[in-house]
Amino acid sequence: MRKPKVVIIGAGPSGGACALALAMTGRSEVTILDKSRYPRVKVCGSGLSPHALTMLKRLGLLERLDGLSGRIREMRAVGPGGFEIVLRTGLEAWVVPRVELDNSIVQTAVAFGARFQEDTKALALLRDDADQVRGVKTEHGEIEADLVVCADGSPSRFSRDQTPKTTIRTLMGWWRGCAFKDDAAQMIWDARLAGYYAWVFPEPGGIHNIGLTIPESAADAGRLKELFQELLDRHFAAGIAGADQVGKWMGHPGVITTTVGRVAEARAIWVGESARLVCPGTVEGISFALESGVAAARHIDGYFGPHRGFTPLAVRGYQAATAARTLPKFWAGEGLVRAMVSPTVRALSHVVVDGPARPLLDRAIRQLLGDNDGRIGA
Ligand SMILES: Cc1cc2nc3c(=O)[nH]c(=O)nc-3n(C[C@H](O)[C@H](O)[C@H](O)COP(=O)(O)OP(=O)(O)OC[C@H]3O[C@@H](n4cnc5c(N)ncnc54)[C@H](O)[C@@H]3O)c2cc1C
Repeated sequence: MRKPKVVIIGAGPSGGACALALAMTGRSEVTILDKSRYPRVKVCGSGLSPHALTMLKRLGLLERLDGLSGRIREMRAVGPGGFEIVLRTGLEAWVVPRVELDNSIVQTAVAFGARFQEDTKALALLRDDADQVRGVKTEHGEIEADLVVCADGSPSRFSRDQTPKTTIRTLMGWWRGCAFKDDAAQMIWDARLAGYYAWVFPEPGGIHNIGLTIPESAADAGRLKELFQELLDRHFAAGIAGADQVGKWMGHPGVITTTVGRVAEARAIWVGESARLVCPGTVEGISFALESGVAAARHIDGYFGPHRGFTPLAVRGYQAATAARTLPKFWAGEGLVRAMVSPTVRALSHVVVDGPARPLLDRAIRQLLGDNDGRIGA
């Protein structure tokens, strides 16, 4: 049987991981497209949770990224009522600027035989008379494919998912020379962020990135720049007083869900943020992007035939497996949002943080972020 021709739209972590996992087996002909020229900057806190590090380790990328990462060994968390704790759970997280992370993944895929076509914007999925995907229309012409992997981030131009969703708005910037600790992160659940938070993450090279996340429906979401300045003044003024801002403030919307909708059909499959795989509450998406890229590659390898495509059973199987992998974490994330806006939880926060319920908090953090496995952080 001939190798399936797979075209992947988007070279973020989901598309890159899918391309790499497919290229490693050598059983598909892989082309990955991106509208940008690489390496390219991406608006992102670039925090790699223990779950993300586990995925990168499985892809054999951890060593390559080791020297390019900032480390998070402790987290200062401030609740909406002002209650403050420093979390040292023994988990390690990294911060690898996306300009490095995404380029490393896609270049490794290229080294394994994937073809990378940069500067190529996909405009539409080409469909045949039976409404089955047969390729991609790009600004440079059409590309025929047996299967298209949509990894174009959020909001996906190619999504057919009609299930309810929530849009999260973000704004962030980068500063050099801050007075913050260089191995600590901060997350501040300011009440104006409606259950979401502002963060400080330490990148390598003496840079800190600072940003906010807020649901689009929140009262203050329409005045993001003013709100960001107010949060900087209120929570981070001392830390950035002598620092230089690097570049401009930038934002990008995130689309989140607590259900999994249409993420596959006979000749198309959705991964990462184009499948809405971002955790509510934490807005963590890189680990889900990597994981879904690898899972899609395995599904393609196991169940896709160039002549028949995915069978209806294989389509349903992918959807069910995606839901089983992600939804417990997404529900925990949604629980975090509700806790952060709940006056009762606020009143009881000292019991959770300092009292007998502390093991529950630590367990919830592990549920949300995953565990470092094996040698990571050793
Ligand atoms: C401000 C902010 C901070 C965040 N911080 C974190 C964090 O600290 N940790 C974390 O885990 N997650 C974080 N996230 C979420 C994380 O960025 C995403 O979940 C992750 O990038 C999803 O990866 P992806 O590969 O699915 O999509 P993306 O990373 O968005 O990649 C999509 C790619 O597709 C390309 N593309 C799009 N449309 C087309 C087209 N038509 N044709 C060709 N190419 C196209 C884009 O150029 C891009 O390279 C954050 C998100 C935001 C907005």
